[in-house]
Amino acid sequence: MNVRYTYESKLCCSCGACEGICPKGAISLKIDANGFFKPEINEDRTYAVEIPKT
Ligand code: SF4
Repeated sequence: MNVRYTYESKLCCSCGACEGICPKGAISLKIDANGFFKPEINEDRTYAVEIPKT
């Protein structure tokens, strides 16, 4: 799941699931300029996962 891509592609429905399931607590929903909840990512809490090539 790529939260940033989902939001920037206007696919986010502000459900808050990403905030609830992130094991690092890296996502929090904030109200944007239009009054909608927007997932914000705390980059200090994120980590990269490498997918092995097959
Ligand atoms: S709030 Fe998070 S989980 Fe829900 S649609 Fe937006 S990006 Fe996806």
